[in-house]
Amino acid sequence: MKLILPVPATSIRNDPAGSGVFKARRGPRIHKGVDLVCEPGDLVVAPLDGWITKIGYPYSDDLSYRYVEITSESHLVCRVFYIEPTVELGSEVEAGDQIGFAQDVAARYKLDARGGIRYRTNQMLPHVHVELRCTEAHVASKTKEKCVFLDLGLFFFLE
Ligand SMILES: [Zn+2]
Repeated sequence: MKLILPVPATSIRNDPAGSGVFKARRGPRIHKGVDLVCEPGDLVVAPLDGWITKIGYPYSDDLSYRYVEITSESHLVCRVFYIEPTVELGSEVEAGDQIGFAQDVAARYKLDARGGIRYRTNQMLPHVHVELRCTEAHVASKTKEKCVFLDLGLFFFLE
């Protein structure tokens, strides 16, 4: 199966607000995806062939941010966060098809109207967050794709 980058990324986020590598520490949690640096408004494409199985909300306190979930025929689940969707639930996509435009997630972490500073600096780089999930159904399908974002030299194995 073909797996491609959803944005024309040149790097993984690593800024004063944190590291965007897979399994980076987030306090007590670990980062379950990869943050690909991009510009707000950048075209975002489907990383793999499949169907749009969810269009969700990453933040319950700010419904302007969205994510799109794509499930492949082999039950591999990919979510791309912080995008303005241009697809509808249930539609079929091929790797490379447009699914939306990058949102400005960094704006959420700047000094905000609530007066809080979420990080010491506001120098988070705009990015999309990409997650791949290996479902039981995917394991059962015996395809066991090795998910590798070769463009970044990043091995992103399924668990
Ligand atoms: Zn992330």
